[in-house]
Amino acid sequence: MGYIEMGKQYVMNTYNRYPITLVKGKGALVYDEQGNEYLDFVAGIAVNNLGHCHPSVVAAIKKQAEDMIHCSNLYWNMPQVELARLLVENSFGDKVFFCNSGAEANEAAIKLARKYSKKKYGEHKYGIITMQQSFHGRTLGSLTATGQTKYQAGFEPLIEGFKYVPFNDYEALKDAIDENTCAVMLEPIQGEGGIYEADPDYLQKVRRLCDEKGLLLIFDEVQCGMGRTGKLFAYQHYGVQPDIMTLAKAIAGGLPLGAMVATDEVASGFKPGDHASTFGGNPVSCAAGVAVMKELLGGVIDNAREVGEHLKSRLLQLRESHPVIVDVRGKGLMLGIQMAMPDVTAIINGAMEKGLLVLSAGHSVVRMVPPLVITKDDANKAVDILEQVLTEMGV
Ligand code: PMP
Repeated sequence: MGYIEMGKQYVMNTYNRYPITLVKGKGALVYDEQGNEYLDFVAGIAVNNLGHCHPSVVAAIKKQAEDMIHCSNLYWNMPQVELARLLVENSFGDKVFFCNSGAEANEAAIKLARKYSKKKYGEHKYGIITMQQSFHGRTLGSLTATGQTKYQAGFEPLIEGFKYVPFNDYEALKDAIDENTCAVMLEPIQGEGGIYEADPDYLQKVRRLCDEKGLLLIFDEVQCGMGRTGKLFAYQHYGVQPDIMTLAKAIAGGLPLGAMVATDEVASGFKPGDHASTFGGNPVSCAAGVAVMKELLGGVIDNAREVGEHLKSRLLQLRESHPVIVDVRGKGLMLGIQMAMPDVTAIINGAMEKGLLVLSAGHSVVRMVPPLVITKDDANKAVDILEQVLTEMGV
């Protein structure tokens, strides 16, 4: 029996998987069991920002695995402290809490916002406003924060205290605030929702509104963070800082790790014993994270910005010969191609057959989130394949 058949027999059926088994990756390329090569513009869904099996990440993992794999958060571990320092020195934040995934980082943010409310207001406030079409994870708290009923259906009752407003609509947000609200949570660039960027003016107004009303502003940078948009963090495009930021995906080069970064003031809402995770911030993931941060700070982000601009302009050119392309959105190497067709599955399958992995997002959007180390040639190759697919489909 092959792995795909065995997988169907033994692995719980929660994903719509494509019929390939990936066995090896190097840079922007991945290979399946039969040795077929693919240009990987999925990158583990915005995870492999340095490309697959980057030598410094591999070396850091190997070294740390030989020294200490796990020691629990009852004790300090060096890579965790070092990664926290790098995150703090390069962001608005002062303190970091480590966990294992994006959903968990958002759970931590929700819990911290609620806990901090008592300190700030002298009473427990638990209302959190999030955006329609947002995505924050699949655990019950982060699923409740997610502004898409398609993910929530059947899992009720959800967590109390959440309200959803349209993204980029300042008045709607303002109207939704009530005496119970303690925080506003959003992705500066929505990923799963279809690659929608916050308007700079909107984000600046939201920051001012939160300050006026004494609300915490939480940015979920799980997908748009870690260099993906051409800056280390997406909020840095906007001249606006959050009080709490969540990170995961690319932070540890493919190992499980999540982080919640907060200001000292807000972090003081948690006392020892208030929140924890057995594996959160484990030495091996954090050693990989330190290697990732060092590489990102060494020029990879400039490449993401430059190649991202090139890729976006080539995709916009393609729109002239293929009007099925309505729009190309996003920054850096977080791009969404809005298609005028109900379903983009045929495009994704067609590209895969020709050796290019892309994925969908939102409604009728083809998403490209390749490693940040791709070259202009890689970008051109991807556009050429997409062009062939659209031509063959006659759209
Ligand atoms: N937030 C955002 C913005 C995400 O894109 C995702 C994952 N797609 C998550 C949270 C959840 O992350 P994880 O799958 O690591 O729990």
